[in-house]
Amino acid sequence: MGLLSNKIEREILKPGDHIYSWRHAYIYAHHGIYVGEENVIHFTRGGGQEIGIGNFLDRIIVSSSPSRPSDNPCPRCGDQSRLDGVISSCMDCFLSGGELYIFEYSVSPALFIAKARGGTCTLASSDSPEEVIHRASYLLQNGFGCYDIFRNNCEDFAIYCKTGLLVYTAISVGRSGQATSILAAASAILSSPLRFLTTSFGGLAAVGYGMYCFSRLVSDMGVRRDVKKVPVEILVCRTVSDESEAVTEMAKAD
Ligand SMILES: [Zn+2]
Repeated sequence: MGLLSNKIEREILKPGDHIYSWRHAYIYAHHGIYVGEENVIHFTRGGGQEIGIGNFLDRIIVSSSPSRPSDNPCPRCGDQSRLDGVISSCMDCFLSGGELYIFEYSVSPALFIAKARGGTCTLASSDSPEEVIHRASYLLQNGFGCYDIFRNNCEDFAIYCKTGLLVYTAISVGRSGQATSILAAASAILSSPLRFLTTSFGGLAAVGYGMYCFSRLVSDMGVRRDVKKVPVEILVCRTVSDESEAVTEMAKAD
């Protein structure tokens, strides 16, 4: 695993690993939990709602995985073209022809900053593989009762399986690395209070990049304080329409 790439060979994957694969010319990555025997549990939404933080991204992200056409179903998984929510796919369907990458946990702040691209690592530490697989399988079996809590992001799903951590503040847009990166990059340029102090484009870019890194760091699951371990059983034991109710429940679980 180098500084610039988290690419990994399939053969050395271990059950419980958080993996991802780039989609659409590196604009967006799809995330999942490898559970062994070439199977991946991942969270998917049909109709291009994968990140779901607004029309801007939804329009870029045309569809999630697996993207196999329904008239040519996978011999292992069957027709998954209409499946929504937490699903299990074979590795080939998950990758949809893309390369395989591993999401890193417990990275140092320095390494986190050095990785210019969001959504590839976190300062948070992973739980044991058994616990990770338990969460993923439980959500696969029971569906997504508290669907809204995740704000429908495949990266949030995988990070939750790995760490049990959920953000409980009401403002949860941009929680995951890739959504945060895109938003941070945009807001760093648009809202930098220093933008008037910079006289050249190069200066502006430097200020913007600094703010971008900072925004990413403070919103990382391993850094922010508004996250909490939530047992997977609590997550699905209720059908939540009211998020504040769920927040109360999560506070009790503390
Ligand atoms: Zn398949």
